[in-house]
Order: sequence, then C-alpha cells, then structure tokens
Amino acid sequence: MRLRIAISSCTYICNSPLLNDIGIIGRIRPLRIPGLCTGCGTCVEYCKQHAIALKNGVSVLDESKCVQCGVCIHSCPYHLLKSEYDHYQITVGGRRGASPAAGRELVTVETAEEVVEVVDRIVYWVYRSAWSGRPLADQMDEIGYAKFREEIQKEFGPKPSEEKQ
Ligand code: SF4
Ligand code: SF4
Repeated sequence: MRLRIAISSCTYICNSPLLNDIGIIGRIRPLRIPGLCTGCGTCVEYCKQHAIALKNGVSVLDESKCVQCGVCIHSCPYHLLKSEYDHYQITVGGRRGASPAAGRELVTVETAEEVVEVVDRIVYWVYRSAWSGRPLADQMDEIGYAKFREEIQKEFGPKPSEEKQ
C-alpha cells in the first residue's frame, strides 16, 4: 500500500494535508505580552480571521475566531506577540480524487520528534493491518482505527494535568 503524507507549516493548509493518508499541520497559539501594546493595529490588519480587535487602545484576541496560524506573531513591530503553544495536529485517512474525504484527527503533539514517532507508528499499523489495493480511508474502521487512536492518544497526547485550553 502506498501512503501519501502532506505537511503544512500553518493552519492555512494550502497543500491540503487533510486530503492525504497522513496529514501534519503546524499550529501556534499567540500570546500578547500584557501592558505594552501601543495599539498600532498592525496585528489587526494581518489577521485574516478578524480574531484581533483594538479595544481601549490595545489589541484583544478573540480565541473563538483564532485558527492558530501564527501570522500575527511575526507582524507586531514591537515583538509583543509571542508563541504560547507550538504544536502539531496529525490526521489519518484523508483521500483525494473523485470521492475526497477529510482525514480524521488522530492526535496533537508538541515536538517534531513526536511527529516522527507517531508517523512511524501509523506506517507500522497500516502495513501490519490494512489491505493493499484499497484506500486507507475506506478501511479505517475495519482495521481498528478507534483502538489505534486510543493507544496513540494515551501514549502521545497531553496528559490530563498538562492539557492546554
Ligand atoms: S494566530 Fe492567526 S488567526 Fe490567530 S489571531 Fe493570530 S493571525 Fe489571527
Ligand atoms: S502589532 Fe503589537 S503593538 Fe500593534 S496592536 Fe498588535 S500587539 Fe499591539
């Protein structure tokens, strides 16, 4: 079986990682250093999601609109926006073609080394369990995706005490 892997360094996912057998998406949650914002509005202009607004002369983030692309972090001329939480979202079972399907979210990890380890585990699981000649997306449930996901999340996912909002 052939496996197609796509990596996107941000959440704008121009190369469509969700439509591949394995998708890896880099995400960054921004954090504003409180008390120093000049209210210049540069980050407001750069955020395509309209997740930042100026209120009372300072920038305010609406977390519900933020897609964690990290663009604003590099936009602030005063370097007041930092990365609070760099992480990677890993998906499995996406498909291109006439009947496209989005990959299912497998796990979120915090380091590149963990990404490599998880991909290694996915490849081993697929080659040990899946049938060749059929897209992975069509046989995920038959080959025990739910159990595999549970194992991976237990091993690589955030522990309850470490979970970020
Ligand atoms: S990370 Fe992206 S979506 Fe979130 S506030 Fe910054 S620019 Fe907007
Ligand atoms: S770019 Fe920086 S200084 Fe300007 S509004 Fe945004 S956080 Fe404040």
